[in-house]
Amino acid sequence: MTTTHAFWLAGAPATGDDTFDVTNSWDGGVVGRVCVPTEEQVEQAVAAAHAVRGEFAATPAHVRAAALDHVVRRLAERSEEIARLITAENGKPITWARGEVGRAVSVFRWAAEEARRFNGGEAQRLDTDAGGTGRLALTRRFPRGTVLGIAPFNFPLNLVAHKVAPALAVGAPIIVKPAPATPLSALVLGEILAETDLPAGSWSVLPVPNDRMPALVRDERLPVISFTGSGPVGWGILDSVPRKHVTLELGGNAAAVVLADWSSEEDLEWAASRIATFANYQGGQSCISVQRVIADASVYDRLAEKVVAKVEAQVTGDPWDEATQVGPLVSEDAARRVEAWVDEAVAAGAKLLAGGTRDGATYAPTVLADLPDGVTLACEEVFGPVLSLHRVEGTDAALAAANDSKYGLQTGVFTHDLRTAFRAHAELETGGVIIGDVPSYRADQMPYGGAKESGVGREGVKYAMEDYTYERVLVLTGL
Ligand code: NAD
Repeated sequence: MTTTHAFWLAGAPATGDDTFDVTNSWDGGVVGRVCVPTEEQVEQAVAAAHAVRGEFAATPAHVRAAALDHVVRRLAERSEEIARLITAENGKPITWARGEVGRAVSVFRWAAEEARRFNGGEAQRLDTDAGGTGRLALTRRFPRGTVLGIAPFNFPLNLVAHKVAPALAVGAPIIVKPAPATPLSALVLGEILAETDLPAGSWSVLPVPNDRMPALVRDERLPVISFTGSGPVGWGILDSVPRKHVTLELGGNAAAVVLADWSSEEDLEWAASRIATFANYQGGQSCISVQRVIADASVYDRLAEKVVAKVEAQVTGDPWDEATQVGPLVSEDAARRVEAWVDEAVAAGAKLLAGGTRDGATYAPTVLADLPDGVTLACEEVFGPVLSLHRVEGTDAALAAANDSKYGLQTGVFTHDLRTAFRAHAELETGGVIIGDVPSYRADQMPYGGAKESGVGREGVKYAMEDYTYERVLVLTGL
């Protein structure tokens, strides 16, 4: 029997008139049925958040921190159950799903800690000019208002956590909208939030259909929008509400750059194994998956041989199998799109070194070389288990090739040279530069976000807390 899941309206479970099914892309089975909120219910959630915003902003930090501590404990206690739900709704291998729950636990832990530290404020003397004699300025940050958090399918729990935890930490109400393919783990997070004594109205989890999202985005009672997802949807949101405070965490085609000094057997083993893993983890459905490998000509052949061997050794298939490293994509349609892009590249002259086959929703980990300019794979985010190898001469050419993209999320640079590390940091047009590892490294507390078409604004618990608040100065006169 299929379980029907309520959504969360102003902290309480609710059912609407309509439902939709969530399916598993590995076996096509229905894993849950989700209630859709009516327009009136969405209005109730927005009105409740708007009404409670002053009270919530004034909640003592220790109360908000204690609620977040509770979420940390309960997510950890229910971690295996939630990991299995993530595998069921998303298709990602169970070992990666467990990792995702662990990360969400640490996001809430950081938020609980930052809630205690945040907003210490600053005092500034103003008597540096005659007009400021006897005056003092104090600064504190206050929530901008209710946050509308919109999440993608690829990390259905952790990217929801990245929106919910910082909002609750600063006392900003949040309405979170999970992806239609993967709402179930966000709804379980709702069960846990409902066990806290956060004020009613301070949070809702609403699986609103996409065609009703533009109206919600435009609602003036939701001054902050934190969106993670694809570029066309994200930039469309910003265009539709240019006066709102909008954060966009979008896609990329991240590069791993391997320079000439990264040349020992041990160096290349490490680089190849990290590249093979992080081009394909979650079927390549991560915004910082390795899509491009840019290698100095002096190490290219040895690296390519190792990368191909390691990619071919990846265990692909049943996401429930503990040994599986690469599971199905989120849907068969997604796998067909990846297949079409690889076929287009091969027809245009790209050399297929590994993979290139599809079985249902599963696309085999794939390596290409000699990718012609202008094919879709060379310009767009593949969001699948496909990487292309590029041979360059020297560091200048390598950094230029990495920057030759409309995207700019993170870049990995394999070098031992400290001066090159600082140079890469200064010259790469991306939100993050990872030295000695792939671009796919992310610690949840560090600032994370894009340059160029990869987005605007930063997540990472403390940075999202800053994003959801603004500094208001208090000037005292007559001191
Ligand atoms: P998507 O853009 O299709 O959907 C993202 C969310 O937006 C979903 O909840 C969807 O229901 C909602 N949505 C759809 N239409 C909308 C509209 N008109 N108004 C408001 N919301 C709307 O993205 P996806 O396929 O779920 O996720 C994959 C994309 O997300 C990839 O491009 C990936 O790179 C990106 N991503 C970025 C990051 C990051 O932090 N930079 C992290 C993960 C994923």
